[in-house]
Amino acid sequence: MTQPGPALRQAMAKAALEDDLMKGEEKICELEEITADMFQMEAALFVPSGSMGNLIAVMVHCRERDDEMIVGDLSHIHIYEQGGSAQIAGVHATTATTLPDGSFNLEQLESKIRHNYPIPHYPRSRLICVENTHNVQGGRVLPLTFLQEVRALADRYGLSVHMDGARVMNAAVAQKVPPSTILQHTHTVSVCLSKGLGAPVGSMLAGPRDFISKAVRCRKVLGGHIFKSGILAAAGKLALLEMVERLEEDHRNAKTFAQALLDCDPPLFAVDMAAVETNILRFHLRESSFSPSEFCDRMCQVGEGEEAALGEGIQVLMYPFFGNSVRAVWHFGISSKDTQLAIRKMQFVASQFLEEKVRA
Ligand SMILES: *Cc1c(COP(=O)(O)O)cnc(C)c1O
Repeated sequence: MTQPGPALRQAMAKAALEDDLMKGEEKICELEEITADMFQMEAALFVPSGSMGNLIAVMVHCRERDDEMIVGDLSHIHIYEQGGSAQIAGVHATTATTLPDGSFNLEQLESKIRHNYPIPHYPRSRLICVENTHNVQGGRVLPLTFLQEVRALADRYGLSVHMDGARVMNAAVAQKVPPSTILQHTHTVSVCLSKGLGAPVGSMLAGPRDFISKAVRCRKVLGGHIFKSGILAAAGKLALLEMVERLEEDHRNAKTFAQALLDCDPPLFAVDMAAVETNILRFHLRESSFSPSEFCDRMCQVGEGEEAALGEGIQVLMYPFFGNSVRAVWHFGISSKDTQLAIRKMQFVASQFLEEKVRA
């Protein structure tokens, strides 16, 4: 949903256009160095999307035919990437239960590790994937102690840890730590430049040097090398260096809206404030006759009498989501003023619903 702002468009317009694969495009190399440095990892690679970054990570970590990975049952890798790890990489996935805070029960996780290789019945566990922040669970930030424990477990069994860190910069801002404090517990990470950070395209994949060398080959076979990538690198650099600081604003706006839901009269909404940690908010409707999809429809339409009541028509885009909930996301381009408008709209929709109910 993010629209590149003027600074970003200007940086792109000025970028030199050189080829990436043939001569090592300067701007992309610079972006990869900045990333490796920021994450305190040996090397980094620009990839066109987060799904491709995750797929490449799976391909590199699980290189033998009988390799297996362990992923959360509510993870983006498992749900939203078309099963690419099976479809393209030929890697079997076993799932661990995603807990409400995005973490796993460590005992359950350990029970999923198949270490009885070479007994021929079993695949060989190679990789544990974690997601931070956790999308489906509403932007939850993985506790650092959890990451430390996952890494210790992985080390004990000789597995790798990959973080789908599409929004790991949100996690770093929420925990008030540099991203490297989080990533010290993982072998590799993929991070989206195009979500809250506002770049038009791309993700960064980072990890050990030999991992990245193999990742370059996988990226090529997936069609992910980009000619004239300098134009995207210019945007990516701006996203990483200048857009992280403002993420705090998204987190604040999400909390403000969440509090307004709780304070709403009539009390239509259920929100767990402690779970509102970053820029994603998941909440429930307390009236079974008011479904998430009907609520979302009303939020994005300008209804009868609305302009007279509110002074203007307000359209707010949110989606019905898992478990009969509603998902709302804050990002670059959504201001605190927009958030106040969204609150007014929400209150209007809620009071209209009550009026209709009373009349019926
Ligand atoms: C968006 C996202 C990705 C990557 O998605 P692409 O659309 O392929 O860039 C990966 N993981 C999570 C948690 C995401 O939210």
